[in-house]
This record gives sequence, C-alpha cells and structure tokens, in this order.
Amino acid sequence: MPLLSTEAIVLSSLRLGEEDKLITFFSLTRGKIVGVAKGARRFKNRFGASLEPFTHCHLVLFEKPNNKLARISQADILYSFRKLRESWEPIERGTEMVRLLLRITPEEQPHPGLYYLLKEGLTFLETGVNRYLSVILFTAYLIAESGYQPRWDHCVGCNRSVTETAAAPSRFFSCKDGGLICPRCTTSEAQCISISLGALTFLQTLSKIDFRSAHQYSPSLLLLREIETLLKDYMAYIIGCHHLLNASS
Ligand SMILES: [Zn+2]
Repeated sequence: MPLLSTEAIVLSSLRLGEEDKLITFFSLTRGKIVGVAKGARRFKNRFGASLEPFTHCHLVLFEKPNNKLARISQADILYSFRKLRESWEPIERGTEMVRLLLRITPEEQPHPGLYYLLKEGLTFLETGVNRYLSVILFTAYLIAESGYQPRWDHCVGCNRSVTETAAAPSRFFSCKDGGLICPRCTTSEAQCISISLGALTFLQTLSKIDFRSAHQYSPSLLLLREIETLLKDYMAYIIGCHHLLNASS
C-alpha cells in the first residue's frame, strides 16, 4: 500500500455517505488530489478541524492499487487560516481563488509554483485590505504559472511593437492567440477584446514583477473590472480548449 506524505491545502470538502468526507487538496508534491476521510463526519473524530477548506496541513494518504480514491490517514494543521473563515468576504474571495485553480489544473500533476501562489493568495486574503485586487492578481499569475502568459508587447500576428500599433482605439487582445493583436491582423475568429491603455500598462507591469510585489499597486475599480473581465474571458477560452483536447484524446 503506497504511502503519500506531503504538505497540502484543503480546496473542498463533500459529504460521502453517512460518516465520511471526500476532500480535494492541492498538494505540494502531487498537485490536485482527492482523498476519503473515513469517519470525518463523526463528532470528535481524529481529523478535527484539519480538513476545513483553506487549511494548510501535512497530509498522509494511503493509496490502494486500482482504487482511484486514496484514504486519508493523517492530516496535521500547519496553518489553519482560521481568520480567513471568520467573515463572508474573505471566504467568498478564497472560494473564487480555489474555483479558478480547480478549473485550470489537471489531476495529479505537481506544480509547486501554483501551490505557493495559492498559499500566498490565501495569506493576502487573510491579512490584506484590497481582497478584490488580490483575486484579480491571483488570476493573472495563475494564468502565467499555468503556461499561458499573454504577450503584452508585440502583436501576435505581425510582431510589430505595441508602440507602433497602439493608437486608440486600436488595442485588442486575442484570446485565441494569447496576446495583443493589431487591427491589421484581427480576424473574426480571433475573439478580440478591446483593451484600454491603462489596463495594458498594468498587465505589462505584472508580467515583470512577482505576485507579492504586485500588491503595492492600487489601480482604480474601473481598471480592475476591465482587467477582471479580460482575464476571465481568456481563462474561459483556455479551459474550453482543455476540454476539447481531453474529449478528442
Ligand atoms: Zn499585427
């Protein structure tokens, strides 16, 4: 019976039968994994608070051959994120981060970069003041860490620099091509989104600094809404392509 011992963050928890729970984790060494917590719904069982959503824990799992569901043997709290769960706004924002991560990551593929991004994201939600900004920054870095960093400097069609093509209102983002596209290169299939100079400048800045440093900026609400819409449209396109690939394989 192989044993998996890793640190992990609890993403979600579902009831399973009368006594058990099905827990989804994002682990440091195995990425997204699912395990059964036997007896976790019983009062005063050994798992205690260690399987609450967002909890950072040290996890031990037993895996049986030919059984996709591993059994959780032990879960010890490393950090509970208890304060994050004390009010609705951080819970909602944390749930949004988890939902985005779940949508874009495949099962059982280790990705330490994403693991630390989630851990840092939850820390900002617990201690930070602008949680809306944290979720949008998380989305931008989640996309980049997953291998879909958009090109913000040159047109993805003709490779001309933004300064040559940026006369308003001719800045567009192509979800299909993952970057800026100039009016000359746009096609009806490119799913182009108009982008303001402010949003473009901010996104260019993000691509050159890390998630933590990005929190020093405070863009306007209008700018954040524009960036949120663009990133969500892009993520929807990426995830749609994943599904198509999976369906055809
Ligand atoms: Zn072009």
